[in-house]
Amino acid sequence: MNQHYDVVVLGGGPAGLTAGIYLGRARVKTLIVDSGSLGGQMIMTYAVANYPGVLEASGRDIAMTMKAQATQFGCDLMPNVEVARIDLSGATKLVEIEDEGTFTASGVIIATGGVPRTLGLPSEALFKGRGISYCATCDGDFFTGKHVVAIGGGNSAIEESVALAKHAASVTVVHEFDHFQAHPFAVEEARRNSKLRFLMEQDIREFVGDQTLEKVIVSHKRTGEVTEIPAAGAFIFIGYVPNTAMFRGQIALNDRGEILTDEAMKTNVPGVFAAGDSRVKRYRQITTAVADGTIAALSATEYLRGDGQARAARAPTSPAR
Ligand SMILES: Cc1cc2nc3c(=O)[nH]c(=O)nc-3n(C[C@H](O)[C@H](O)[C@H](O)COP(=O)(O)OP(=O)(O)OC[C@H]3O[C@@H](n4cnc5c(N)ncnc54)[C@H](O)[C@@H]3O)c2cc1C
Repeated sequence: MNQHYDVVVLGGGPAGLTAGIYLGRARVKTLIVDSGSLGGQMIMTYAVANYPGVLEASGRDIAMTMKAQATQFGCDLMPNVEVARIDLSGATKLVEIEDEGTFTASGVIIATGGVPRTLGLPSEALFKGRGISYCATCDGDFFTGKHVVAIGGGNSAIEESVALAKHAASVTVVHEFDHFQAHPFAVEEARRNSKLRFLMEQDIREFVGDQTLEKVIVSHKRTGEVTEIPAAGAFIFIGYVPNTAMFRGQIALNDRGEILTDEAMKTNVPGVFAAGDSRVKRYRQITTAVADGTIAALSATEYLRGDGQARAARAPTSPAR
């Protein structure tokens, strides 16, 4: 199969689906490609309580509504496919999809999101969504009045631990080193908070519970002393991995692999835009992904108009889009 689209959107999470909704409404011929099922990280979210206009809904329900909107406005959706090769260099972009063929496009929006870095323990996978979370803003509220553990020592870990203390009865911050990498003023603020306590130089051994998390077992890196921390929740803040490996060498990324954009969501390559968690940003939420998707779609639409004019000027006999 060989087909041309005005825009191919890579990734069908909230950023990609929102871009699709705006592009579809502007009658821009759009294909949304996703290596998983559409919906992105939202579909892992049991309850979303901070998406404006929705009192509380499962992430899956919000995702399915966004998907229905994108379809309604004429987007073609292609879930569960692998992008085998991509070439963003020319005026016409090339996206080769395994078993589906090669697609060309005048513009590409990258909305491939990312994944929180995990510890990789089998018990971590077991309690994910049943006590283990990677997002205090999203899930902190569910642990009001409970004892929780926060794992990590960077800026996010320290700031999120302070945020968690607003809900939780106590927050035990567990870190692998004898010092924090976070800014000293953030650490000072955390140390002043009477709900926080700190366990340094610890390895996380295991998460234990019945149906939901009940305790976190840690051991001291040097002495080996084992500590059991009773906790209904464990928040893991050890970093974030953007899904951008396949774009390396084609667009500008920072040293963490996040895509560099301007505020119009333009990358350094003409016709290539990025939106959502895959790009450099401070706050990663559904609302911010949706906002990025909107801006990327509007920028891409504007780019296509300019592009169309430029092409028409180069080849006056070619039919206008
Ligand atoms: C457990 C959890 C709970 C959360 N709860 C909340 C909450 O309550 N409220 C809130 O606002 N935020 C929440 N968040 C954060 C929020 O889900 C993300 O910020 C948001 O989903 C980011 O949207 P995105 O579209 O940029 O990326 P994603 O949601 O990550 O979507 C990216 C999509 O791209 C696809 N993809 C990846 N690589 C490729 C590729 N090479 N080619 C094609 N497709 C690809 C993926 O399959 C995925 O569908 C939560 C996150 C997690 C992990």
